Amino acid sequence: MVKKIDHIGIAVKDLAAAREFYEKVLGLKVTEEEIVEEQKVKVAFIPTGDSEVELLESTTPDGPIAKFIEKNGEGIQHIAFRVDNLEETLTRLKAKGIRLIDEKPRRGAGGAKIAFLHPKATFGTLVELCERD
Ligand code: ZN
Repeated sequence: MVKKIDHIGIAVKDLAAAREFYEKVLGLKVTEEEIVEEQKVKVAFIPTGDSEVELLESTTPDGPIAKFIEKNGEGIQHIAFRVDNLEETLTRLKAKGIRLIDEKPRRGAGGAKIAFLHPKATFGTLVELCERD
């Protein structure tokens, strides 16, 4: 079951510039910056109390984040909910006929296990489920 909002994913063109806004203007702190090759993104995590902001910058012009920005402009790209057992959750959703982008968990930033649900199944929002140790 869903525990809480783990993070909100925000697509940006320039991670360094966006980081500066969150750090210098909002007074938050980036705890982790990392490249996730598999998803062609550079990400920065910014804790805000019990949840985090995940800034995402594409590492290639044809990556999913670059395509998202091309279509929608910069802004909120996905919302991630924390679950206890991702594998089990995916099995349960599949049994309910919920359309999944990832049938199996894959590795996300910060060593989390993640899977995306299809926006058609979630009333328009790209939903990520994520499990952390
Ligand atoms: Zn995410």
